[in-house]
Amino acid sequence: MVVSIERTDENVSSARQRLLGWYDRNARVLPWREGPGAALKADPYRVWMSEVMLQQTTVPHATPYFEKFTALWPSVADLAAAPDERVMAEWAGLGYYSRARNLLKCARAVVNEHGGVFPADEAALLKLPGFGPYTAAAVMAFAFGKAANVVDGNIERVMSRLYAVKTPVPQARPLLRELAARWVREDRARDWPQALMDLSASVCRPKSASCLICPLREDCAAFAEGQPEAYPRKAAKAPKPARHGVAFLITSEDGFVVERRPDKGLLGGMLGLPHLEWRAEVWGEAEIVFPSIRHCRDAWENLGTYAHVFTHFALNQQVWRIELSADEMTAFLREHNAYQGLSWADVKTLPTVFAKALKL
Ligand code: SF4
Repeated sequence: MVVSIERTDENVSSARQRLLGWYDRNARVLPWREGPGAALKADPYRVWMSEVMLQQTTVPHATPYFEKFTALWPSVADLAAAPDERVMAEWAGLGYYSRARNLLKCARAVVNEHGGVFPADEAALLKLPGFGPYTAAAVMAFAFGKAANVVDGNIERVMSRLYAVKTPVPQARPLLRELAARWVREDRARDWPQALMDLSASVCRPKSASCLICPLREDCAAFAEGQPEAYPRKAAKAPKPARHGVAFLITSEDGFVVERRPDKGLLGGMLGLPHLEWRAEVWGEAEIVFPSIRHCRDAWENLGTYAHVFTHFALNQQVWRIELSADEMTAFLREHNAYQGLSWADVKTLPTVFAKALKL
C-alpha cells in the first residue's frame, strides 16, 4: 500500500510543535547538551567533543569518556597542549582511532588559527580537521543555536519512516537529507534536531517503533502503511572479508609486553600486542615465527582464537602466551628495544582488538 500524507507548511509547523512539546517533557539530560529549561549552557568545545565521540559509539559507552576527557582537559587549549600518547591512551576502548588523532589536530587548529574559539560559521568549521557536514551542522545547531540541517543515521531513520522512502540506504541518503531540510526552521533551531534524536532513541527505535505514543504518528507514512520497521530499506550487504592473525602475549607476574604501532595505518600510534601480519590465510602452527626468547618452543601455549570485526574486515586472531619470570622479562625488554612492558592495570589503555586477547 502506498500512502500519501499531505505536507503543507501548516502541517509541518503543527507536527514540529507536537514533537517539540513532546521534547520539552521527555528530553534526555546529557552532560554536553543545552536542553529545555537550559540548566546547562552549550559550550562549543564540549558539543564538538561529544559529537566526535558519538560517531559510531552509543551515548552510554561514550559518556564516561566524555566525562574523563573534559575533566582532564577542560578547555580546547588544554587538549591542544596534551601529549599525543596520553590522548591516544585515554581514547583506548572507544574505537575508530583516527577520530582521536583528528581530535588533537582540530584542537590545535582551533588554538592556532582561531585563537582558541570555535568559529560560529559552518564553512569555517568544515575546514577544521575531522569536521564533515554532519559535525559542522551539529556544532552550529547544538552549540550556537543556528538553523542547520543535522542528519545522522537516527534522523535518517525517522525521515525514511515519515515519508516511507522506498529507495534503500545508502543510495537514499541525499533524498533523506533533502527531506530533513524541509523541517528545519530558525525557531528552536537547537531543540529541533535534539528532539528528533531523542525521538529516534526512545520511540522510533530501529527494531521497534512505538508508534502509538509517537507525537508524529499522524504525519507518518510508514505508520499509515502499518510496517514502520520495514524502513529504512537497506541494500544487501556484502560479507566482510576474513583476515587471520597471531598475537603474542608475553607475560610475567607484573604485566605484559606491548609495542607502539606505526603512526600511519590501522590503530596508528596506539599500543598493541606484538602480532603477525593480518592476512587472508589462516596461520599454520609450523609457520609462526615467535618473538625470540631464551626458552624452548614448547613454552608457548595456545590460548585459542577470538574474533574482532573492523569496518572493512573481520579478524580471527590466535593468541599464544609465554610466562616469564621477572628477571627474564627484564632481560627480554632490554634486548628488544621495540617492545615495552605494561602492568596488568594498564589493560584499559589497549585498543579493544588487543584487550580481547587478554580476556582469553
Ligand atoms: S509513527 Fe512510528 S514510525 Fe513514524 S516516526 Fe513515529 S515512531 Fe517512527
